Amino acid sequence: MTLPDEKSFGRVCLVGAGPGDPGLITVRGMQLLRAAQVIVHDALVLPSLLREARADAQLIDVGKRHADHKMTQDAINALLLEQAKAGRFVVRLKGGDPFVFGRGAEEAVYLAKHGVICEIIPGITAGVAAPAMAGIPVTHRHFASSVTFVTGHEDPAKSASTTDLAALASLITTGGTVCIYMGMNRLDAITDQLLEHGLPSDTPAAVVQWGATPMQRSLRTTLDRLSSLVDEEELKAPAVIVIGKVVAIEEPGLDFYMKRAMVGQRVVITRTRDQASDLREKLEALGAQVLEAPTIQVQPMTQDAQQRVDQALRSLDNYNWLVVTSANGVDALAQRVKALALDGRAFANVKIAAVGQATALALETSLGLRADLLPEKFVAESLAASLLKEDAKGQRYLLLRADIARDTLPQLLIEAGALVDDLPVYRTLPAIQLPEDVMEALRAGEVDWITFTSSSTVRNMIALLGEEHTLLRSVKIASIGPITSQTLRETDLSPTVEASPSDIQGLVSAIATHLAV
Ligand code: SAH
Repeated sequence: MTLPDEKSFGRVCLVGAGPGDPGLITVRGMQLLRAAQVIVHDALVLPSLLREARADAQLIDVGKRHADHKMTQDAINALLLEQAKAGRFVVRLKGGDPFVFGRGAEEAVYLAKHGVICEIIPGITAGVAAPAMAGIPVTHRHFASSVTFVTGHEDPAKSASTTDLAALASLITTGGTVCIYMGMNRLDAITDQLLEHGLPSDTPAAVVQWGATPMQRSLRTTLDRLSSLVDEEELKAPAVIVIGKVVAIEEPGLDFYMKRAMVGQRVVITRTRDQASDLREKLEALGAQVLEAPTIQVQPMTQDAQQRVDQALRSLDNYNWLVVTSANGVDALAQRVKALALDGRAFANVKIAAVGQATALALETSLGLRADLLPEKFVAESLAASLLKEDAKGQRYLLLRADIARDTLPQLLIEAGALVDDLPVYRTLPAIQLPEDVMEALRAGEVDWITFTSSSTVRNMIALLGEEHTLLRSVKIASIGPITSQTLRETDLSPTVEASPSDIQGLVSAIATHLAV
């Protein structure tokens, strides 16, 4: 046998994405996903996970849903091989676990036969995760001692079902749990046959749709009623059918997932895309469904501005204070520090003030710098007050901020006798249009909350909506703080809740608290 020259080949990793929630992929899987040049994924992989990809990664959707085959298995195999041969780092991302009804083995074997050995990273399979998130443990010492995963899928070309329902019925009778994948369009036939094979009509049965995602819905009932209830409730694929005694367990604590503070809430967040992930993650962790409406986009500073910033950074010793007021500002600062080949020593003699925790954290992570001063409240007025606790007369301040930052901070400092260089380190431009999914949800009245994290997001959102801005009147509004709230009132909108403290966590807590009462 001749071995292919490995060096001329790229790499393919077969990664299980887990059931949906991006937090439920393995650590190894996430590392590979974030590093991949090409990501070949299925329809079941959610956009929230794909957002983790490198900005320059190529995403290829080979998802196949019933009757709408996007790509044959042969074509997928060929695609993976072709990408690997082109020397690229490919992640083949599959919902759940790649080897559980995922045809992962076929892909790995095909690649190996052509000289590409792929690394395989298991994932949490839907048959375990979806029931768990619906409060059903697939085994329980007192109710079930086995769990069986079966496919309910019947190839339309085949005349008889490939699944042995008599055997399943006997597994369930003897205290097993059965989880059926891909069984939704045959649910009626499956339940009928299980009853025919002697299962009692009151055998506990459930369907969990889109388990472990914000779209999760489920119902529990008895085997004889399952199919009609699923029709009534309009539950659809992807869903796992669970049959067995464990389905009837109703103990406190097991149904935590659907009891999280924001389950069922649809929240539109209006931030720049770069900043949205923290807010999104916090909302999603509480069960909210998040739609992003970036109303502003952050752009690099102009050439002119850059020269002034570079000059200031080369002579940081001339300043007493460096003031940064956003994580974006810190990013821009870090880029210039790197470009100028400076390091932490440049900041040795200047004190640093940050407007809030997120900015301070950005300073630590991207520059290894600790802020000397954080104001009590995370707004410009409070920052000025904290800075002015010491005599500012004759002191030199370097402010690195957005081009559209308010004048409050420099004005207050100048009034106190300070010398201020207020330099823009990034530009904030309005977005051109709102994403289609956001507009559709707003028009359909399907948005529960909208968050505003600055006055400019309010103004930009209203401009983007144009005549349709009245749609916001029926949406609950969460404002990050007093200034943003005031801007909202000026535009005839009133905040339902206001964050305190004025940061992302405060914003999320304000919504959760409102929902709890
Ligand atoms: N490899 C996957 C299964 C792929 S087969 C895994 O290990 O989970 C596709 C089937 O998986 C769907 O028809 C559905 O039955 C099930 N499924 C996948 N994700 C699901 C989810 N989030 N909730 C419920 N069922 C899911």
